[in-house]
Amino acid sequence: MNNPSPSSTESGDLQFDAIIIGGGIAGLWTLDRLRNSGYNVALLTDRALGEGQTLASQGMIHGGIKYTLSGALNKASETIADMPDYWQRCLGGQGDVDLTQTRCLSDHFYMWSNSTMGKLTGFFASRAVRGRVDKVAPDERPALLQNRQFKGSLYRLVDRVLDVPSLLANLATNNQGHLFLLPNIASRLHKDANENTYLTLDNGTKLHAQRWIFCAGKGNAGLLAALACPEPAMQLRPLQQLIVRHRYPYPFYGHCLGADKTPRLTISTHPSASDKTVWYLGGSLAEKGANMSAAELVCAGKQELAELFPWLDFSDAEFSTLPIERAEPRQQDFARPDNAFAEPARGLANVLVGWPTKLTLAPNLANQILAQLPPPGAGNHDLAALEQQLSVPGIAPLPWETNGD
Ligand SMILES: Cc1cc2nc3c(=O)[nH]c(=O)nc-3n(C[C@H](O)[C@H](O)[C@H](O)COP(=O)(O)OP(=O)(O)OC[C@H]3O[C@@H](n4cnc5c(N)ncnc54)[C@H](O)[C@@H]3O)c2cc1C
Repeated sequence: MNNPSPSSTESGDLQFDAIIIGGGIAGLWTLDRLRNSGYNVALLTDRALGEGQTLASQGMIHGGIKYTLSGALNKASETIADMPDYWQRCLGGQGDVDLTQTRCLSDHFYMWSNSTMGKLTGFFASRAVRGRVDKVAPDERPALLQNRQFKGSLYRLVDRVLDVPSLLANLATNNQGHLFLLPNIASRLHKDANENTYLTLDNGTKLHAQRWIFCAGKGNAGLLAALACPEPAMQLRPLQQLIVRHRYPYPFYGHCLGADKTPRLTISTHPSASDKTVWYLGGSLAEKGANMSAAELVCAGKQELAELFPWLDFSDAEFSTLPIERAEPRQQDFARPDNAFAEPARGLANVLVGWPTKLTLAPNLANQILAQLPPPGAGNHDLAALEQQLSVPGIAPLPWETNGD
């Protein structure tokens, strides 16, 4: 990508080093890194922060071990392996993003299986995961699995689970004054004769940037289409998550392994305004559930819970579902991307497009974006002018606080 200077900037137009579009983890993390690296940067979003994949995520910062279910260290697990330490430094106030106000829901999560764990046992003992995975002795099992009917191997991973609303609030506070709500962003985007992108506000003010950074998740496709840009292309991985509100006091975070490469069931537990425990269920159940009606998924979920936890009674639990899509850069054969993705938009002079592909990989995405930016230059103070024209986005509610009620 060359280093364009915006053509025909008029007085009253606003000029930035970078403008990020998208208020999920990708946009917010990238904003934080750019701001701290001296860039004059603003973030635009068309809805509340976190709405979309970020608040629908299970909050697990994993080191890739769940991608080794074939029993070998693969490319995905190597790339992601550094991430838990990266996040840990940030959570402890010693990283390149200050996450000291972010709450951890758990400092570990479990992996268990009734049968197929055999070939993984050797791997879990290997150098690649040393110090990150411990076999759990029967008397150290979490309360949920303290039952004679539980049979199988249980492992404990030291990777954390984050409270995503507090993560979003932390990043929003760090970046106050740089976040702006603007509806209908795609229809405001234009390109000039030099293929430089700019955006027009209602009063005619034009926003220019050395780089536009599209971090709008699934929305990236619409932003690119508005500029008649075909690439990078996107793929969507549909899921339907299951939400269970029940009376058991078991905060549990873990993957149950089955025959598939993805975990049979992933359980995370989340704070809720009600007095019930909220279990949020993903994994293969949610992948297969994408092709089911909500009623069919509830039925399949009840059956799965009955098989895995025959000592529990979920007959008075409340069930609801959340259809959601994961947005990824398009891969051959619809493969899962190994890494975060950030590349220039083809044919446009000043646009980068990013998908983290996992919450965990947001730091990796921002590093890739920073490596592709020209040095900061437009050091004027156009943020104040933007503040006069646009409002500040709030943080979206958690899906189970709005879903199924
Ligand atoms: C069910 C589920 C569970 C997951 N669990 C985990 C997990 O445990 N661990 C993990 O590492 N990853 C997990 N992930 C993946 C992770 O959630 C995503 O990779 C990550 O949140 C993507 O962040 P994002 O900012 O790119 O996209 P999003 O969170 O979707 O944010 C995009 C934002 O862009 C904005 N936007 C969209 N369209 C436009 C537009 N046209 N104009 C302006 N703004 C727009 C919206 O504000 C939206 O909030 C999970 C994903 C799902 C779906």
